[in-house]
Amino acid sequence: MIQKEDWKEISLATRAQILLNYNNLDFFKGDFKLVDIYQENNKKNLDWFYVESEHALVKSAKKTKDGKYNFSFPIEKEQDIAKMDAKSIFGRVGKIDKIIFGCFDIENSKIYRLEKTFYNICKNVKNSKYTLTEDNLRSEKILEVKEDFLNSWKALSKAEKVAKNSKNTRLEGFKGMANFFNWYNNQEKKCAYCGIHVEQIKALGENKKLNNKRSDIRGYTLEIDRMLPKLEYSEENCCMACYWCNNAKTDEFSPEEFKPIARGINEVWNKRLETIWKEGSSFKREFIFDEKSEIWKIDFDKEMNSKTK
Ligand SMILES: [Zn+2]
Repeated sequence: MIQKEDWKEISLATRAQILLNYNNLDFFKGDFKLVDIYQENNKKNLDWFYVESEHALVKSAKKTKDGKYNFSFPIEKEQDIAKMDAKSIFGRVGKIDKIIFGCFDIENSKIYRLEKTFYNICKNVKNSKYTLTEDNLRSEKILEVKEDFLNSWKALSKAEKVAKNSKNTRLEGFKGMANFFNWYNNQEKKCAYCGIHVEQIKALGENKKLNNKRSDIRGYTLEIDRMLPKLEYSEENCCMACYWCNNAKTDEFSPEEFKPIARGINEVWNKRLETIWKEGSSFKREFIFDEKSEIWKIDFDKEMNSKTK
């Protein structure tokens, strides 16, 4: 049973992705590719997404208390919409043929997906709003939400959050949001240093074997570490790291220097996991420290182009 809390972590960008990829709701299956949905003009309306290849705008909404879904439009006066074309309403996005709406009925784990022509929407906008009720939705396409999809979606939301919070510095090196998402999505979800897997972190948390008071915010998902802190965020220079390794490594150490520390952290995790593991547990009992990982070869250059200079 999917809980309301599970949905809180699913960002608007991920919801748009769910609507776009409704044929393949489990994004972790290989061929998932993201289009670059952020356009410059979307800064004011961050919940609209544009898909160039489909000439489509995508937007999702949550159900209000009175059982309605409101989609607000970025226009000031109602009469404007008749005069305006898609371009002047939505700024510099390209051609718009259709708008895809997503209504997320979280209580019932249902997603309604609607595709409407831009013209049809314009006719029915009132006070900058397009409203749908559950009655309107009865005949629409309904997506079934399976519990195991949520982890994929959470990971994607996390990637989106990281990318958004660091728009200028992190994304440049990744050459855009789409590349960043795809990189993130294809990473094995374990710490590149100590080797702990997200499932094991979760098990430690659930068994009260984590002290981190902020583990609701940091800890349960892996973070993105720049292996060499002076280099930019890029596919070549980034890896997944657990909160603890990321926190300890900071901008100070190179992977090579950090190796003995990571080995120590690995030892501690193994001891803690040993205390909670039982026959039939869903997580692995132990994990072996990867002494031969390529990551340990990464070090500061000869010119000591590092923080310790
Ligand atoms: Zn770690």
